[in-house]
Amino acid sequence: MTSSYVIGVVKAGAYGHGSVHVSRQLKATGVERLAVATIDEAIHLRSHGITGPIHVLGNTEAHVIDSCLQYNLLPTVCSRDVVREIASSLEGTDEKRNVTHGTQKTPPFGAVNIKIDTGMSRNGCQPNELRQIIQSCEDSNVPIDAIFTHFADSADDAEFTRQQLDVFLETVEPFRNKNISLHVANSGAILNGIGTDLDFVRPGIVIYGLPPGDVADFKDRGFQPAASIKAVPSLVKRLPEGRKVGYGCTHTTRDEEWMATFPLGYADGYSRLLSNKGFIVREKTGEKCPIVGRVSMDAVTVRLPCCPEDAETYTMMTADFDPDTSATGIASKVGTISYEVVTRLSTRYPRVYI
Ligand code: PLP
Repeated sequence: MTSSYVIGVVKAGAYGHGSVHVSRQLKATGVERLAVATIDEAIHLRSHGITGPIHVLGNTEAHVIDSCLQYNLLPTVCSRDVVREIASSLEGTDEKRNVTHGTQKTPPFGAVNIKIDTGMSRNGCQPNELRQIIQSCEDSNVPIDAIFTHFADSADDAEFTRQQLDVFLETVEPFRNKNISLHVANSGAILNGIGTDLDFVRPGIVIYGLPPGDVADFKDRGFQPAASIKAVPSLVKRLPEGRKVGYGCTHTTRDEEWMATFPLGYADGYSRLLSNKGFIVREKTGEKCPIVGRVSMDAVTVRLPCCPEDAETYTMMTADFDPDTSATGIASKVGTISYEVVTRLSTRYPRVYI
């Protein structure tokens, strides 16, 4: 059995978890390569001292090529035009050029990753364009680190994923003697064992202990989410019966109610769709307390079972798979996926790593 190296996907602030910290952790566990979506994300990592290969997965536009070279990044190319632009920028660099293609760990300076669209119809060249793009790279001394593709439904549709893999393997077959690496597998594919025997795998969501698809199966495999959100109320008050709560007055107290205001809202990624629907957990007792009224931009109101003690901590998002309070539970309550729940978490509150 062959084993693949890992490219740790840390785009979107490491799926909301903090890209610099997660990158350092990944590097400390032996993950040499990282991947982000945009050049700015890559520059952010470099400016915080993250070294080593960084893939920029989004399509490369001409205006970012000089920065890619300056920060020694691995751009994604899907056309000969971009190869030409890279070649012309490389001409102006003093860097010693090594025009052999990639090695596992250290891509040559100026190297590119060519992306093939094998069925997702998003970024990527068409399979029949690959030969010409490789030819352009070779003609203009642009080294190729790797060729890759992305799967559209790898967590849920093994058949379609295998079809994409077949298209990929067939397309790259004529170029397999050129020392160019190959990588295809995202989290869903890794869990389903599809395309995991190539040079690299590219996990994202599973790094954070969250499932790319079905929760039950994922949980049974022993995964656990990495992140929780903890908060202390900014204010607690006892309201009399008949008081309206929040924008739109969507909740009216039925009795005397202990009401806590927590200082985070939809601007922090705490979905407004949780209004009168979500729960948070009182840490001391494990009780679920309902969100009442609308989630507003910077605040959420929660009915407490009793008068809390000073500075009691509550968990707004639990690091488990609870149907009400976890990232996966919140996702299903508001009709989205846990990717969206965590990537939307704002950076105005500190991440604490333990
Ligand atoms: N590879 C590419 C090209 C991606 O765009 C992504 C994320 O969308 C990943 C890998 C990681 O995907 P996942 O988080 O499903 O593992």
